[in-house]
This record gives sequence, structure tokens and C-alpha cells, in this order.
Amino acid sequence: KTGFGNRAVCVAGLGVSGGPVARALLAQGARVTILDARTDEATRARAAELREAGAEVVLGGDSLPEGTELVVTSPGWRPDAPLLAAAGAAGVEVIGDVELAWRLKPRDQVWLAITGTNGKTTTVRMLEAMLRADGRRALAVGNVGTPVIEAVQGEDAPDVLAVELSSFQLHWSSSLRPHAAVVLNIAPDHIDWHGGLESYALAKGRIYAPGTIRVVNSADSWSRRLAGECGDPAAPLVGFTLETPRAGELGVVEDLLVDRAFVADPRTSAEELATLADVTPAAPHNVANALAAAALARSIGVDPKSVRAGLAAFTPEPHRIAHVATIAGVDYVNDSKATNPHAAAASLAAYESVVWVAGGLLKGAEVDELVASAAGRLRGVVLLGADRARLREALQRHAPQVPVVDVARTDEGAMTEVVAAATGLAQEGDTVLLAPSAASMDMFTDYKARGEAFTEAVRALES
Ligand code: ADP
Repeated sequence: KTGFGNRAVCVAGLGVSGGPVARALLAQGARVTILDARTDEATRARAAELREAGAEVVLGGDSLPEGTELVVTSPGWRPDAPLLAAAGAAGVEVIGDVELAWRLKPRDQVWLAITGTNGKTTTVRMLEAMLRADGRRALAVGNVGTPVIEAVQGEDAPDVLAVELSSFQLHWSSSLRPHAAVVLNIAPDHIDWHGGLESYALAKGRIYAPGTIRVVNSADSWSRRLAGECGDPAAPLVGFTLETPRAGELGVVEDLLVDRAFVADPRTSAEELATLADVTPAAPHNVANALAAAALARSIGVDPKSVRAGLAAFTPEPHRIAHVATIAGVDYVNDSKATNPHAAAASLAAYESVVWVAGGLLKGAEVDELVASAAGRLRGVVLLGADRARLREALQRHAPQVPVVDVARTDEGAMTEVVAAATGLAQEGDTVLLAPSAASMDMFTDYKARGEAFTEAVRALES
């Protein structure tokens, strides 16, 4: 009844989403061919399992199989990948895993959708906690946790999904209609994939679909602009702000998180949701995440008390402003997930006096603004990774007085040297903050491995 029965569907990419996508299609009775250019052992093992399940799997190739009626692509594939370009030329529809999930989901399952350059995972997790505190059968899906395709099938599919969406997934979606959605913020990231900030932002703007309640970050001009240009003008517009909320906004009054949008009369009344102390980690950008999550929760009638209970129950994901240790009066904080300048700026802004550990792959991002905004808080800087010269130059321009230690080595011991250098620069009361502003793949498997290396090196200082 979903229209996939006996259709010839090609699944592009046997990665994190490819396997579950293929299984979902097989369950719908589709004829599935999976393609992946890789032929390594792990891929071959996964291929064997999927052949067992009834799929055809072609490894080491990337040409469009004859007779393909639909392509479901792994979100990371670039639109100019030969297979996708061939599909486009042949007039074959290409969709992503999220679009497929939307087409398969139970009719009455509600989606609350979140995108943005930074804060997505934190916000979906906060939202999930609020929904559960309210007694809803809710699940956070996306990058961390359950793939979205697994949350839309079966008898026990959740009633509400808190859906994290990347710009890639939105690019490959066409018919999503979330109940409410937010673009948390926009800053340059993944520009190489999208071919420019504008098209990156516009991909994210697709989250504001026809009929979707538009939640916007009042302090972010892109968020406001996308809601206006991409969103449904007839759908409610709800802002969130770290300042006193106006009618139609959620915001902060003294130490309280307050709702002046989802109340009987926003002009005259407001609801208390929680206190600043309920938000962990306590950083301004994270209060913004909490308000965004609260707005989405309130859009389906979640009780104010459940917003607060959810925030209290929320535990941050690892490698996001995680306190590692306090040694000789110096705090060591792991924010390895700060993989772009916007994230690093937010986390630097949360501390008074910082020894900043930065560097890695900048992905073409500009760092001048970041360095200029942080200059007044820097006790010192330790640089590592491939693009550290760009950071060093920016530091010379905007913070010439700040001591910089450059760690050139990239072997396993590099992080030990980094932490030793940072410790040497730090004074009592300072924070040593790993907020690289860059991707990690030049030296580590991913941001987690980088965060773990930092954590281990700090722990070694303790003993
Ligand atoms: P994402 O899923 O979008 O990558 P995360 O919630 O995992 O977002 O947070 C990633 C990093 O971004 C954090 O470690 C923090 O440094 C930074 N960050 C989180 N929320 C925000 C925000 N609202 N604005 C700016 N930076 C943020």
C-alpha cells in the first residue's frame, strides 16, 4: 500500500543508513539493489548479510542498474557522484533515507524536526527527555542513536519523533511535513559539499515545510530569513531568545526560562518553564538549545512541568563541553565536537580565561572572526593538526600578545604533548578547553577518538 511493492529500487551506499534502508525496502516488497564502491572486509561482511536478506549487492562499482525506478542515496553522497548524476539524467527520482522514512511512517506519527549548524544532537536529546517526562512515547532519531528509518516501522513505532536532520538529508528530501521545525543557527560548514553558504542554508530552510510551525532563533538572521523565505507564511512563527521574550517568543527573564508563545494570550500572559540551573552544561548557547527544544515540545502541548523535568533528566552526550578533571585549580574541558568556528566560538564564550586547544581540518572555514571574538579570553593557545598555520596567522593578526605553542607531531603521543603544553600555559582558575574548530580526520578516526585522546592525556596528569 506504500507503493514500493515490486519496485526496482537502488540503494546508493552501504554505510550507516544503507543497511537499514535496504531492509525497510525489502520489507515493503521492493526489488533492492545496493551499490557501494568499497570492497573492504567490513563492507563485504555487511553485503553478505543483506544478500541473505534478499537484496542484490554490487561492490566496487557505481553505475546505475538497468531498470532502476527509484534511488535511495546515503545522505553523504554528493549530487555529482556518477550514479546520482546518471539517475538525474535518466529522470529517475533520487531521495534520501529521511524522505523514505517519511513515506513509510505511520499516519499519525508526529515529527518535530531540528536542523542547524550546531546544537542539533543536544537539542533532539533535550526534546526527547521533555516528551518522555510528559508521558509520550517519543524517540530521538538522527546522527546519534536510532536511524530514522528504524523508528517508523512496526507495531510499536513511537508516537512522536524528535528528528535531527543534516543539510544533506534535507537536500535529498521533498515531501517532509514536520508538525514543527527549527533551524537553530547557520554558520559556514560543509561549504565544499553544498558549493556555497547560500545553498547550504537553503537546504536547511527546506525543514520549514507547508503547514509546519516555524520555530526560529531570534538572534540568528539566517534562521529568521529561512523561516520567512522557505516557510509557510500561514503557519505560526515562534521565536526563542536569550533576552526577555516578546509576545510570540520563548526567552529568559532573570533566571527563568519563560514561554510567551504557547499560552492563552501571549500579549498578557507567560508560563514559567524552568530555571537556568536546570540547563546542563551551563553555557549560553545551551540555554538557546533548551529553549528551542521547549518550543517544539510546547507546540504539541507538553506541560511546562515536563519541560523542566526533561531538562533535569537530560544527560549531555560525550565530547560536548564535558568536564574531564580539575587539576591544580585548572579545569580541563573536552568539547571535541566543536568541529567548526561557530561551535568553538560558542564554547569559548562560556569561559572567562581559557587555554584554547585548537586545530585540525578547517574544511575551508574562515577563522578570523572566531579568533577576534575570543582574543580577550585567551591565556594561551596550543595548536595541532593540518591547518594550524591558518589559525596561527589569525592569532598573530587579532591576538598578537597571546602565547601560542605549536605541536607539529601527529603520532599517538601528540595529544600528550598538547595537554602538557596547555598545562604549562594555564594558571589557577583557568580552563583548558579542547574546542578544535576543525574536523579531526587528519589525525584521528573521528571527533570521539580525538576527545578520548584528550581525556586520556588529562587523566594521565592526575595519576
Ligand atoms: P550537532 O549535532 O549540530 O553537531 P551538538 O549538539 O552535537 O550539535 O553540538 C556540537 C558542538 O556545537 C558542541 O560541542 C558545542 O561546541 C557547539 N554547540 C552546541 N550548541 C550550540 C549552539 N546553539 N550554538 C553554537 N554552538 C553550539
